Amino acid sequence: MVFPAHVLAAIRKLNTAGYEGYAVGGCVRDSLLGKTPHDWDLATSALPEQVKEVFAGCRVLETGIQHGTVTLLTDGGPLEITTYRVDGVYSDGRRPDSVAFTGSLREDLARRDFTVNAMACHPDEGIVDCFSGKKDLENGLIRCVGDPDKRFSEDALRLMRALRFSSVLGFLIHPDTAESLLRCREALSHIAAERILSELLKLLCGKDVFRVLMDYPQLLWVFLPELQPMHQFNQHTPYHLYDVWEHTARAVAAAPPKPALRLALLFHDAGKPSCFTRDDAGQGHFKGHAAVSEMLSRQMLNRLKASNELKSRVLMPVRCHDDAIPAERKAVKRWLGKLGAERFSALLAVKKADDAAKNPEFSQRPQIEALETLAEELAAENTCVSLKDLAVNGSDLLAAGCPAGPEVGRLLAALLTQVIEERCPNERDALLAAAAREYEGYESTTLF
Ligand code: ATP
Ligand code: MG
Repeated sequence: MVFPAHVLAAIRKLNTAGYEGYAVGGCVRDSLLGKTPHDWDLATSALPEQVKEVFAGCRVLETGIQHGTVTLLTDGGPLEITTYRVDGVYSDGRRPDSVAFTGSLREDLARRDFTVNAMACHPDEGIVDCFSGKKDLENGLIRCVGDPDKRFSEDALRLMRALRFSSVLGFLIHPDTAESLLRCREALSHIAAERILSELLKLLCGKDVFRVLMDYPQLLWVFLPELQPMHQFNQHTPYHLYDVWEHTARAVAAAPPKPALRLALLFHDAGKPSCFTRDDAGQGHFKGHAAVSEMLSRQMLNRLKASNELKSRVLMPVRCHDDAIPAERKAVKRWLGKLGAERFSALLAVKKADDAAKNPEFSQRPQIEALETLAEELAAENTCVSLKDLAVNGSDLLAAGCPAGPEVGRLLAALLTQVIEERCPNERDALLAAAAREYEGYESTTLF
């Protein structure tokens, strides 16, 4: 394992002062997987006060001192140093009532969630692996340290962490741990929405999200019961090869790994089961499902305490995922004006992933790619699609004699429509002339 200089220096300093110090958890796991860890955590036999003494003169923050954690600010980045700990009783299934410090590295590793997260490493001693984490890492297995039922009932967030690591690392879940996940799933209802959402988004962006969604949907139903009716819901249409849930799981996996896109795909067809009808030929239809999906999505996002930013990034593509957009300049300009370039491209990404999970015989991919090309061309031309691109603004209209007030906004909107519809060039004189004509239309008086 390659220790960065600041980590090595901190371990040496602890050792020189007579304490143990090891890199632990995610950084050991990721190093053994050949990845560069995004952060390093140290565990030590030194008590928090002793850690502060060892690093006297350095910048130290008491970030979680009651749990034994201090953060050392180094030139190589912040470093969390946590005293070996055993967790007390978990009476609420969320956090221990107390933590006790211990001098034993093994006890500290035993409180960790999964074997692959329960390894320590020292620059001279190498890996300390009390729970066969290395073997599980080699075999690609997520397995609880100790009795899974006990570990999941102590802290139900571990249920979501198991799914998240399984998806992100592409590891299967050991059968004993997997059975326990299903038995203990109701405990997820006690976990704070924000923590669930954060794990869910990471899970959705993992490389094995398809398998995890197909194998463990029941866990998601605990906090998102709206998703349950999709499961094994036969669509009875030639446009689809899979039931609503499998289509959804495939669509999520087909999207770029961005949280809002993948969440939008998870939710996009939630309205289908309640909109299902069959025609005389027996074919299934889901008229109006996008609006119902949007309503259900809003409900789910509120329950998950999503930020307003995330809500809007998810709700728009859910609402518009089935809208037909002709591959024509004017239509694309209208959409660009309505959504802006970034959101329009997000909508197309959602449409593409949705399409990729349907029957390929009816693929719309070439049309969606034509829309992408058009949007790129229009961006390269700096085409006017919004008020800020218009060659006149409110002050220009006022200076030309338009009365102050709502008239200004109305005129600007009308001018933008003319430019987007290519009825008027985006040039100052032409626009002022067009404004005068528009105004006459409203007021039967002459402006300018
Ligand atoms: P990443 O930082 O890449 O998400 P990580 O494994 O470092 O993964 P963290 O949440 O940073 O995850 O936690 C650091 C370590 O603390 C874990 O590797 C694990 O050993 C332990 N840990 C974290 N959360 C829990 C938990 N809920 N129960 C038991 N141990 C945990
Ligand atoms: Mg970490």
